[in-house]
Amino acid sequence: MPELPEVEVTRRALAPEVEGGVVRALVVRERRLRWPVPRGLARTLAGQRLLRLDRRGKYLLWRFEGGTLISHLGMSGSWRVHRGVPPAPGRHDHVDLTIEQPQGVRVLRLTDPRRFGALLWAAGDDAALRGNALLARLGVEPLDPAFDGELLHCRTRGRRTSIKQALLAGDIVVGVGNIYASESLFEAGIDPRTPAGRLSRPRCARLAAAIRDVLGRAIDAGGSSLRDFVGADGRSGYFISAARVYERNGLGCLRCKKGLVRRIVQAGRATYFCPSCQRR
Ligand SMILES: [Zn+2]
Repeated sequence: MPELPEVEVTRRALAPEVEGGVVRALVVRERRLRWPVPRGLARTLAGQRLLRLDRRGKYLLWRFEGGTLISHLGMSGSWRVHRGVPPAPGRHDHVDLTIEQPQGVRVLRLTDPRRFGALLWAAGDDAALRGNALLARLGVEPLDPAFDGELLHCRTRGRRTSIKQALLAGDIVVGVGNIYASESLFEAGIDPRTPAGRLSRPRCARLAAAIRDVLGRAIDAGGSSLRDFVGADGRSGYFISAARVYERNGLGCLRCKKGLVRRIVQAGRATYFCPSCQRR
């Protein structure tokens, strides 16, 4: 499933291809994504200039003069750029967005076999967008300077759920998916079962720093394979190989060199940690 780093890598790959361009066409072959692609979207977008490609959480925000196209990759989605005429669409190529640039035409093709992705229109300005139901409740961006130990400490007070689940919930900080939660807690030396509300300030500071570091490294790893990525399927495979605890159950801990990595299940999701150096 594409996580925040993959979406950010996608954004960085697409932005120079599409920003400043004018929409020439939108072809929707399959409307039934997670929510139906709005009828009339092609008419809404035609002739509009794309000002900027932003990201909020795992949503790409295509900022036009009259509003914002909100897209999500769901479980299996990917965007691919074609310069000039694209190949004939396959079964899972649901949407083509054609954008004209001074240097030529770019066709952005959304492929999504499982169709849990989304493509929606939000009319209006920044304030309207902030109030959008999909975005309004998202936590702070992990790479935003506003995200630090103080914020994490403050927002976890009174929470009895485990810190792993609190991170996954997305209302404190966005983008810490299952792999990255295990990795961040490992780097910070925190047992993933620790009740969130019991973490001290210094441990929250270590965890916030670890989250920024882990996500930053994942984006860099994707960035280094950016060339392939635009043509690839957006899966997080490129980071798994760099993971230090995820899927290493039974193997020696890379941090303390003493413990063995254990796999447990929390709220239905696998968690990996080292019982010997990750403390409650
Ligand atoms: Zn260890």
